[in-house]
Order: sequence, then structure tokens, then C-alpha cells
Amino acid sequence: MNSKITIGKEEWCGLHDLGMPAIKARIDTGAKTSSLHAFNIRLSTEDGIEYVDFDIHPIQDNRKLIHTCRAIVIDNRYIKSSSGDKESRIVIKTNVTLNDETWEIEVTLTNRDSMGYRMLLGREAMKDRVLIDPDSSFCLGNVDEQAIAKNYKSALPKKNGLNIALLASNPKLYSNKRIIEAGEERGHKIRFINIKQCYMNISQSNPQIHYQDEELLSDIDAVIPRIKPSMTFYGCAVARQFQSMGAFCLNDFDSITRSRDKLHSLQLLSKYKIPIPVTGFADSPVNTTDIMRMVGGAPLVIKLLEGTQGKGVVLAETANAAESLINAFKSLKANILVQEFIKEADGRDIRCFVIDGKVVGSIQREAAEGEFRANLHLGGTASPVKITAQERKIAINAAKAMGLRVAGVDLIRSRTGPKVLEINSSPGLEGIEAVTEKDVAGLMIECIERTIAKRKR
Ligand code: ADP
Repeated sequence: MNSKITIGKEEWCGLHDLGMPAIKARIDTGAKTSSLHAFNIRLSTEDGIEYVDFDIHPIQDNRKLIHTCRAIVIDNRYIKSSSGDKESRIVIKTNVTLNDETWEIEVTLTNRDSMGYRMLLGREAMKDRVLIDPDSSFCLGNVDEQAIAKNYKSALPKKNGLNIALLASNPKLYSNKRIIEAGEERGHKIRFINIKQCYMNISQSNPQIHYQDEELLSDIDAVIPRIKPSMTFYGCAVARQFQSMGAFCLNDFDSITRSRDKLHSLQLLSKYKIPIPVTGFADSPVNTTDIMRMVGGAPLVIKLLEGTQGKGVVLAETANAAESLINAFKSLKANILVQEFIKEADGRDIRCFVIDGKVVGSIQREAAEGEFRANLHLGGTASPVKITAQERKIAINAAKAMGLRVAGVDLIRSRTGPKVLEINSSPGLEGIEAVTEKDVAGLMIECIERTIAKRKR
């Protein structure tokens, strides 16, 4: 063997067996095994040999280019992720070329799109081969990405791809951009549909949706509703219309309406014996003292029924403050909930992202200094968290109680166990994808693929 080569924290390496002349890899001595970001992972057996076909975006930050690889499966291994969760991963063997040297390494396939680099080169792959200079990059030289791009094809809609409508208001939002990318990279035709620009013909025999310049929206297989709170009424009406035209709606319009009503949601959760903080609701100011007593007295939390992103949530530290606040809200004819204050949560809550009856990722959110609300919009920070089996079960049951296939279930850890604070029917993807490094948007698309395939069967 030649003398060791010196490499930096990122390098271009060749994976010629997989048809990739150069891929930018992060050199990660913290990881034992190397990994490749793969999606559309398909397994098959030929002559007793197990193969894996998978797609990869070979160039960082370019989801338009796509490359399909095939390799022999050598193992299926559990790998611990940054949040401590175990993830089952396919393992393949392939040759890696760095400088002029080529050697065989093991690589796990993972769907961690937000990790940025398409490849992580772990300790095992580098053993006795390289010296690492963690302060440098591209010690072996840089590569012209545009020249490399010519080796790959653009992702085109598949012949049997679905016609998906993303029903939302702002195409520039991270979550909406990611959903479109995830749909396209799986070969579907996915289109942003602005709720406001839809209008409908509610006829029994031929329900229709017209869009913008009188274009007729027909042949939509599936709808992903991402309806902002102020558009709930009209957005749900459009989703309902799509459903009556035969499209599959990832979240049913009924379940969205239900989850938007905080009081109704809490009543449903309590019906299904899902733990929630002690909560009171009353219509007239006469009941103020009694309602405060009912939830255990001050300190307590008062929530505007129509509030979102923590904006309508206030903490009343004393009985006097609580009484004045409640009466003030009442005089404005605002609908409010009065809730026990879970002090021991210490400004933290947990967001569990549920898709199709599974928690696909969870993050802990921590309130900014001097704040008790953990909302990221209010300066809260997100970090990985390992949830308990009980928390997982509660999150799954809460989404089920609301009838939501996709839900962000917010839990708070209290002295007497986890309690559900809220269920969001359009949970944001940015925080959860960044912290868990999971392709959550892709998992939403896969849920549509599964359900439609099942319906066809
Ligand atoms: P929103 O829908 O406006 O986000 P939430 O009910 O989720 O309203 O409350 C916002 C934040 O306030 C929560 O994420 C949590 O950190 C905090 N919070 C809410 N209710 C309580 C409570 N009963 N005790 C302690 N903290 C709470």
C-alpha cells in the first residue's frame, strides 16, 4: 500500500461501481460506517442474490438531477441516529476512489436528505488509509460541478407517476418547497395550487374546480392540504370539493376542521382517554372564580381559542392577574380556554411528527430566556429528543382521535406524565427535518403512494 494520503473535512471521491465519477463527501470521524443519501430504495432478489436499487441526487443542493444505482445487499443493520433512535439500514459494499487509490468500503443507505452532503465517509472506510486535517477542505483538489452534472439525467415525471396538488397559500415556504421537491424526485407531477385562486362548481353530477384563468383542475389523484389557519374555512371547502371529485386527500377536510377548533380537539382527546392538561371553558364572566378553582387555581395559562404559534397564550401568575385577564378577554367576547400551568415543563415541549400512524420524528422545543412558550416562532430552539414508548403511543392515538394522517402532536412532560397540548394538521417541516435529518416531506409522499396503491388493489 502507498503511504497515507492527507484529506480534509470534505473531499470529492469516486464511486465508479455505482456510476458516480465524483461525489462530495463529508469526512466524519464521529461515524463508524459510511453512508449515502438514497431514496426510492427498492429491494429485489435474482438467482438467490438480494439487490438494492436506489436513487440519489449526486450533486449537493440540486434535487433536479437524479442517478439510479444498483448494488448487492450485504446486510440490514440498525444504526443509531443523532436523536438516539435506531434506524434500520441496508448495507452495501462498493469501491471508493480517493486520489489514485481505490479500496472497498461498506456503505449504509439512508434517507437523510437534510444532511446536505450526499455521502459521509466514516472511520472504518478510512482506517490505515488516510490522515485527516480537519481544518482543510478538498486537499485532493476540487471538481467542476457543472462538468460532473453532465453525467446525470434530470428527474422527469414517471409514466405511472401521480398527479398531486399541493393546496396551500405560499409557494415560497420551506415546507411547501420541500413537498414539491419530494414529489418530483419520486417521479410525480406535483403542482402548487393557491387556495384563493380556486373556485368551484358544486354540482352533484359533475363537481368541478376551476383555477386562475378558468383552467379546469381534473385528474388530480391526490391533494396535500397545507391550509393556513386564516384560510381554514375556504381551504377545507376546496379540499372537500377535490375529495368529492375522487381525489385522495392526505388529511381529510373533516379532520382539519376538527383539529383547528382547540376546544373540540381537547374534548375529543378526553373522549379517547388521551391525557391533556386540566382545562376549563366557560362563556360568561360570572363563572370566572369557579373556573379558576376548577383547573387548580393560579398560576394558570389562558389561551385564545383562535390563537396560533403561541400568540394567544398567556401565563397568569396570580389569582388576581388571572381573574382580570379572563374578564378582559370575555369583555372582548374572545373565546378562551383556562388551563393548569405545567411549571415543571420548564419552557419545553415535544413535537412528534406523525405520518400514517407512526411517529417519524420528534424534536424538543425550548423557550427563549424568560419565556414559557416553546414555539419556534417565538424564538424557541429545537433539539433532538428520544421519546418514551408512552409518549409515542399518546402521539399516535392523538392523531388517530383527530382522524389526521399527517399531524404534529405537541406534548408537554408533566409530573403526572406526558400530556397533549395541541395537534397541528399542517405541521412545519423545517425544524423537524433540520434536527432529525430525515426526509419527512418524502415520507408524506410515500404515504400517498401507499394509500393510493392500496385503494387500487
Ligand atoms: P399555540 O397553538 O398557539 O402554539 P399552545 O397551546 O401549543 O398554543 O401553546 C404554546 C406554547 O406554550 C406551548 O408550546 C408550550 O410551550 C406552552 N404551554 C402551553 N400550554 C401550557 C401549559 N398548560 N403549561 C405550560 N406551558 C404551556
